[in-house]
Amino acid sequence: MSLLAKGILQGMAVTAKNFFQSYYKKDRLPTVQYPEEKSTVNQFTRNIPFLVFDGDDPIDGMRCTACTLCEKACPPQCIYIIKDKDENGKPIKRPAVFDIDSSVCMSCQLCVEVCPFESIRMDSEFELSNENRFEGLLLNRDELLRSNEYYHEIHPLEAQETDDRIVAKEAEAAAKKKEREEKARKAAEAKKAAAEKKAAEEATAAEEAAPATENKVAETEAPKAEAAPAETAPTAESPTEPEAKQADAAPEPKAEEETPEEPEKKE
Ligand code: SF4
Ligand code: SF4
Repeated sequence: MSLLAKGILQGMAVTAKNFFQSYYKKDRLPTVQYPEEKSTVNQFTRNIPFLVFDGDDPIDGMRCTACTLCEKACPPQCIYIIKDKDENGKPIKRPAVFDIDSSVCMSCQLCVEVCPFESIRMDSEFELSNENRFEGLLLNRDELLRSNEYYHEIHPLEAQETDDRIVAKEAEAAAKKKEREEKARKAAEAKKAAAEKKAAEEATAAEEAAPATENKVAETEAPKAEAAPAETAPTAESPTEPEAKQADAAPEPKAEEETPEEPEKKE
């Protein structure tokens, strides 16, 4: 039997099986009575993006940081984002405006692929028809926000994988932060130790320099002290040189001159 004939027979067998089982097995029924009934949507279905938030408050728990990467990546340019600001005009990491034109979106999921914060995901929602084909199809931020619990309901496997990734990223960020803090602490300690060492070296150098200067001062003052008496001593105790010369020149024995030669005259 050729490969082609084998394939045709296998296909006919599957068709026949579904046809007959559709009479007594509900999950084999090809149609549902929509809108009263709705068929179960496969968890891998994707239709339009939505924004995920954590916790109870959609605004505070919003994962989106308004980085605009998805806006830039969207091929038909159907995403429009404006960053939020606080009361002082300082930008906040969340969108004030996040619009998606559902009439243009082609469900390519590129916005999901580029988002670094796991904040935009594809919804399996398909009832998007609206009477107003302009504003009605433009989905704003509040209409796009869905809780993480909703994400787990429609895409359980993908949502769990996302949660695991977020936990791993947070743990990695905490480890890096701790490492940075440890490095900063060690650097501060090293800086403090270097400053203390430098101060100690300066103090030692100052101590060593102090006796040397004292000795120099003493050495420079000592000759002055010795020289001073040499100048003053002669004035106090002995006459100066001219006075001494005068003294030498003066006639010494006045007594001899005055001694009379009287006895010789008497004889
Ligand atoms: S799914 Fe594709 S077309 Fe739709 S908003 Fe995302 S990037 Fe744009
Ligand atoms: S959904 Fe993601 S990629 Fe888009 S602006 Fe928000 S954080 Fe950035």
